[in-house]
Amino acid sequence: MKPFHLLINGSLVEGDSQMPVLNPASEEVLAQCPRASLRQLNEAVAAAKAAFPPWAARPINERRAVVIAMAETIEANVDELARLLTSEQGKPLPEATREVRRMAGYFRYFGSLDLPMRVIEDSPTRRVEAHRRPLGVIGAIIPWNYPLLIVAFKLPPALIAGNTIVLKPAPTTPLATLRFVELVSPLLSPGVLNVVTDANDLGDALTHHPDVRKLSFTGSIATGKKVMASVAETLKRITLELGGNDAGIVLDDVDPKKVAPGIFEGAFRNSGQVCLAIKRLYVHESVYDAVCNELAEIANNTVVDDGMKQGAQLGPIQNKMQFEKVKGFLDDAHKKGKVIAGGKPIDRPGYFIQPTIVRDIQEGSRLVDEEQFGPVLPVIKYSDVEDVIRRANGTSYGLGASVWSSNPKRAYEIAGRIESGTVWINKHLDLAAHTPLGGAKSSGIGVELAEEGLAEFTQLQIINA
Ligand code: NAD
Repeated sequence: MKPFHLLINGSLVEGDSQMPVLNPASEEVLAQCPRASLRQLNEAVAAAKAAFPPWAARPINERRAVVIAMAETIEANVDELARLLTSEQGKPLPEATREVRRMAGYFRYFGSLDLPMRVIEDSPTRRVEAHRRPLGVIGAIIPWNYPLLIVAFKLPPALIAGNTIVLKPAPTTPLATLRFVELVSPLLSPGVLNVVTDANDLGDALTHHPDVRKLSFTGSIATGKKVMASVAETLKRITLELGGNDAGIVLDDVDPKKVAPGIFEGAFRNSGQVCLAIKRLYVHESVYDAVCNELAEIANNTVVDDGMKQGAQLGPIQNKMQFEKVKGFLDDAHKKGKVIAGGKPIDRPGYFIQPTIVRDIQEGSRLVDEEQFGPVLPVIKYSDVEDVIRRANGTSYGLGASVWSSNPKRAYEIAGRIESGTVWINKHLDLAAHTPLGGAKSSGIGVELAEEGLAEFTQLQIINA
């Protein structure tokens, strides 16, 4: 494997120290990765600050052309990036390939957007214009479940708006990001894009840094709270995309055979390590047994293997810490419910867990109340629609939800009463670059993607003449 580098002020540099990155399918060292020091983080922020005025001064058309060229570079290197992604993250190669292609698509989408001035009033007494100005240096912090796709939520809108950026991937999945940055670095002036890596020890310095004007964070609620507290000191702008505990609500009028594959995909994609996965499934008592049986059958027939192996449908859990956490949820599931598929780690090297379906379980168990972020789905029985809406909303999470029904009118009516940023009908996890994504309640602050997501990387300025 070619060596990996940080990008600071336009130079590909070694880290002040190194750290190993493991392959979660084997637990073997995949590569040595540069680890940045606090000095290097400060250099990266200083470079981004110096690069900001000339980058912001370039016409938006030029910035858009750079972002489109970045998309082309990604498209020309899909294979290498996807293989790296599977090796460090674990997801099956076809899914990693889709992630890289979607990343390129998101760059293309943002490369098509404009930030036009809006005339609010043009009268004999007054002319009022609304302009969108860049903010300055953006700090972007990325989690380990979608290391490349989540870069595409933040980097292209930040650049289009005229900002410069310091990107920090998660410690266990930095490699594909470093390779991507190396590939696109010739397209950008020094300092416009910088990337530093850490062992979970530089995020705090980035969020506190006085020269960072906005912090765009995706990760857990616990870390999101720390980020929010630390940006308060400098009153940075902030976007938080945090954890979820999405409810799927299955009404009494579904055909269990028809809905089960979509529900399974919505819960188990990326081995359940998706912020917006279905994490609790509420099923009406009249179809409860049938839906449970269908889901168990799919789980039992799902191939779990090294993501590089052809035919693998689910890969391992991404890292040891999360693996141990999911094992804790399995213990809870065995005590509080009835496991009807899976239920165990797989006896082999790597962080593999059988896709697990748990029935006869309720609120009050960890698996229902907390975010499992793994391939273990609790299926909860309900009998009354009002009651299930209350239970779906009876949590501090509010990222996504879905309603499954053969009657669209009923499904829409229920969807409107769910307290979450997104509600899908008869599907789950359908994301697109032009559709805003944001969390209600503790699942986030602000939105990403779409024109609304681009606006969050700008300062609204009113000129009143
Ligand atoms: P995490 O919060 O542990 O880490 C996320 C990032 O924050 C990493 O880069 C980490 O190094 C960094 N970090 C750690 N301590 C920090 C600190 N004190 N200050 C600033 N940054 C710090 O999350 P994770 O375990 O990597 O990711 C899983 C979580 O992310 C889940 O809860 C999942 O639901 C959530 N997530 C949310 C979305 C969304 O769009 N809402 C998307 C993906 C993941």
